Amino acid sequence: MNIKNFFKYLGITVLLAMIVLTILANRDLKRIYGGLTEQVNLSQFDIAISPVVITNATILAPEGDRFLSGQTITIENGLITSLSSSEELPADYSVIDAQGKYIIPGLVDAHVHLFKSPNDLLLYVANGVTQVRELIGEDDHLLWRKKVHENGIGPDMFIASPRVGSFGFIQGKFMEWSQGYVNLTNAKQAEAAVKKFHEQGYDAVKIYSQINRETYEAVASTASELGMKVVGHVPWELELSDLYGRQNSIGHLEEIMNAFNREFGEFGYDSTDEFLNYVEKRSHEVAAELLEHDLAITTTLWLVESFVEQKTDLDKVLKEIELEYENPGISEWSTTSPRGIGWLPEVNRYKWPDEWDQERREKSRNYWETYAKACAVILKILSDKGVRIMTGTDANLPPTVPGFSLHREFASLEKAGMSAAQILRSATSIPAAWLNNNAGEISVGKKANLVLLDQDPLLDITHTKLINSVILNGRVLDRTVLDKMLAAVKEANDNSRRQDISHYSHSH
Ligand SMILES: [Zn+2]
Repeated sequence: MNIKNFFKYLGITVLLAMIVLTILANRDLKRIYGGLTEQVNLSQFDIAISPVVITNATILAPEGDRFLSGQTITIENGLITSLSSSEELPADYSVIDAQGKYIIPGLVDAHVHLFKSPNDLLLYVANGVTQVRELIGEDDHLLWRKKVHENGIGPDMFIASPRVGSFGFIQGKFMEWSQGYVNLTNAKQAEAAVKKFHEQGYDAVKIYSQINRETYEAVASTASELGMKVVGHVPWELELSDLYGRQNSIGHLEEIMNAFNREFGEFGYDSTDEFLNYVEKRSHEVAAELLEHDLAITTTLWLVESFVEQKTDLDKVLKEIELEYENPGISEWSTTSPRGIGWLPEVNRYKWPDEWDQERREKSRNYWETYAKACAVILKILSDKGVRIMTGTDANLPPTVPGFSLHREFASLEKAGMSAAQILRSATSIPAAWLNNNAGEISVGKKANLVLLDQDPLLDITHTKLINSVILNGRVLDRTVLDKMLAAVKEANDNSRRQDISHYSHSH
């Protein structure tokens, strides 16, 4: 072989190897976001809408603080058409006797990530979640929404765009390929991107931490012209007050806490009390501003509280949650990129590295406990001041199983001092008003998205888990159907699992 041929064959070999590696890497990327997990056919649960009358109904009042008994609700074409105390029943309606049940509006999870896991749609419905707000949108999600609308079952979906951030050229390319970011570095790019999101059918633009000021301001003004909302993080380059009049919601309480921490100068082991006092003082000031500028906050409090638990005793957390319903692609993740969002011990980013000594662990525990406590302090103050608080979970980040995790979020909100009535409003009427989705309260003309509970959730917020039936845009899904949905997702997961998780199951 002469030297020329040698280099020719070497070149061809390297090129082929790169193509194969790219295909494998892309396939792995699809798998770790759940895209290779068996998909349940959503249309098997679809049913024709027929007129329904619910008798002996005890319904949550529009104010969300009490129940009204002895009601008769009629539902036609997915809407509540009448509400009365009359005992006369219209002919040709299917009748549901709701004696002894408590009826609340369908619940909202205002911070979810579907990634590549359409089975999640069934988990939401089976847990009484009739509306989700997807905060890292993908073109596939727009397609799923269309499919569900035509023939299928799933919650109503508000879909924000992919995350927009400002990165350098090389990092930007990598972030776009690996995590679906859209890299925008100036006003001109921002304007074009927001117009494209709007044409594609996205409802909002999702802001990420690294966005620069020029791009942020252009995103906000273009979105406002097009009637799109702006949602997401508090960018590192900006002050909280820069968001006023530009952004419609902040994705986590944590973002406000981090903004306070930047002002404070980063709390440490010796300054936790001082920091918590600062957070309390600033929360009172900021509450008035958030109210004035109508900036809503999503909670994701349980996730933050789980950091310490995942660090100290991950096995306990994995045993407590409904791990069998989590998409195994996501929970198993990939050991080649351990800093991702995998759940199991080998891939969980929150877990302490084994080599950490006692002192380092103690400092870490102290830090993350303060972190969570600060979020709870902010929540209580903002909520009491009447800031729009929306319940959200960051579903699919460890350990937030889609659907199930919203009920755990409620428990965290209660622990932070919110009343059951405040929590229910934050999961129904408050997000509904923000979403402008004609749902979120039980009154005439509103969407028939309802949940029938076996016990009173105002007495104990954990009663939201006792779901007898879900009514989704007028379709009645009873417990038997909801259980079938859950079983179908579990079976699909089990068929796709590469690691045995039976030692985490509830029977152990
Ligand atoms: Zn998120």
